[in-house]
Amino acid sequence: MQNEEQARLAALDRYDILDTPQEEAFDRITRLVRRIFDVPMSTISLVDAHRQWFKARSGVEACETARGPALCNIALREPRCLVVPDTAADPRFSANLFVLGPPLIRFYAGAPLRTPQGVAIGTLCALDTQPRDFRPDEVETLLDLSHVVMRELELRRVATTDGLTGALSRQAFREACAGALALALRHGQPLACLMLDLDHFKAVNDGHGHPVGDRVLAEVAAACRSRLRGSDAFGRLGGEEFAILLPQTGAAAALAVAETLRAAIANLRVPIPDGTLRLTASLGVAALDAGTTEADSPEVDGLLASADAALYAAKAAGRNRCAGAPRLSSGAGARRVLKAGLLSFDDGRAGLDCTVRSLSEAGAALNVVDARDVPETFRLSIRDDRFSRRCRIALRRDGHLDVAFV
Ligand code: GH3
Ligand code: MG
Ligand code: MG
Repeated sequence: MQNEEQARLAALDRYDILDTPQEEAFDRITRLVRRIFDVPMSTISLVDAHRQWFKARSGVEACETARGPALCNIALREPRCLVVPDTAADPRFSANLFVLGPPLIRFYAGAPLRTPQGVAIGTLCALDTQPRDFRPDEVETLLDLSHVVMRELELRRVATTDGLTGALSRQAFREACAGALALALRHGQPLACLMLDLDHFKAVNDGHGHPVGDRVLAEVAAACRSRLRGSDAFGRLGGEEFAILLPQTGAAAALAVAETLRAAIANLRVPIPDGTLRLTASLGVAALDAGTTEADSPEVDGLLASADAALYAAKAAGRNRCAGAPRLSSGAGARRVLKAGLLSFDDGRAGLDCTVRSLSEAGAALNVVDARDVPETFRLSIRDDRFSRRCRIALRRDGHLDVAFV
C-alpha cells in the first residue's frame, strides 16, 4: 500500500502535471465524456498525497478537493473501471460527503489512469446527479478515453520545450540546472538562478481574454531570451512563471541581469485590438557563491526554493522589482521528498492530510488543501518513515506551509 502511494507520487512528479494550467487537449476529453455518456460532469482527477486535483473538469466548479471523500481515491485501486450505478444504494458511498452534499454524486464511473508501468495516478470519470446504468460497451469507451488521457500525459512528459514560449519545460529546466550545478560545485565556480513571475497576470486574461494572455507570454519569453547568453537556460516552470539559470554568474551580476529583464518587460508594448498592453514582472535571485563545494550539498531544489522565496519578497515589496535571496543556505540541505504526511493538532483530535515536499534537519515544506485553518504549531508525522516532529509555521501561503521543527 505504502509502495503504491510512493510509486503514484513519484509518477505524478515525473509527469510534472499537478497545478499546471488548463489545457485544451485534456479539456476536450472531459467534454467528450459528457457528450458521449450524456452526463452533467466529468473530470480528469489526479490523486496527490493530500488531495485530488483536476487537470480537466467539465460541469464541476472546484479545481481540487480533499482526498479523503474522493471516489476517485477508491477507483484508483480498481483493476478496470469503478462503476457505481446509485451511490445512495451502495453502503461504501451512501454516507460520502460528495454524495450527501455538493456536487451530489448519485452515479459514478471512473477509469484508472495507469502509467505504462502500471501505476494508477488518477481517474477519468463520468458523474451524474441521477442514478443510471452503465453498459459494458460504455465501460470500454471510458477505458479507451482513459488511454487517450495517458497518451497526452506521455507526450507532454517527453516534450522538452513548451510549445507556446519555446522555453524549456520544468523537467528539462531542472535537468539543465542539475548538470550546471554539479559542474559549478566541482570547479568552485559561481552560478545563479532567477525566478520571474508576471505581475497581476490574471487581470490580463480577465480583461483581454486567454488568447491575448498567451500572446503576452510568448512576447515576454522572446524579450527575455533575446537578452540572455546562449549558455543560459530559460525555462517555463508554470503558467506565467519562468526561471533562468546563469552559469558562471555571481550574485551581483545576476541581480543586474534580473534588472535588465525587469526593465525589458516593463518597456514591452504588446499590440492588442484596441491599443497596446503594458505589464510588469517581479524577479527573485539566488546565487551560489564561488567556492561553494559539493560538501555544502546545495541541491537544485534548494536553489530554486531560494529564488522563489526572493521572488515572493519582491512581490510583497510592491512588484515590478528584483530581490536577492539572503543566502542560499536557507534552502540548502533540504532534500526533495514526496511523501504522504499527517498534521495533527488539538491533542491529536484533529488531523489533516498533507504532502511533504521537502525535508531538512531544521524543517519541512508542506502542501495542504487549505492552509488557513492550520494552527501555528502542530505535529507532523510521516507514517512510512516513522517520522514525527512538532512544528511551528514559518510561512503560510495558499496551500503551502514552510515549517520549522521545534
Ligand atoms: P501576482 O502579481 O501575484 O503574480 O498576480 P497574478 O495575477 O499574476 O498571479 P496568479 O499566479 O494568481 O495568476 C496567474 C494567472 O496566470 C492565472 C492563470 O489564469 C494565468 N495563466 C497561467 N497559465 C497561463 C497560460 O498558459 N495562458 C494564459 N493566457 N494564462 C495563463
Ligand atoms: Mg503572477
Ligand atoms: Mg504565478
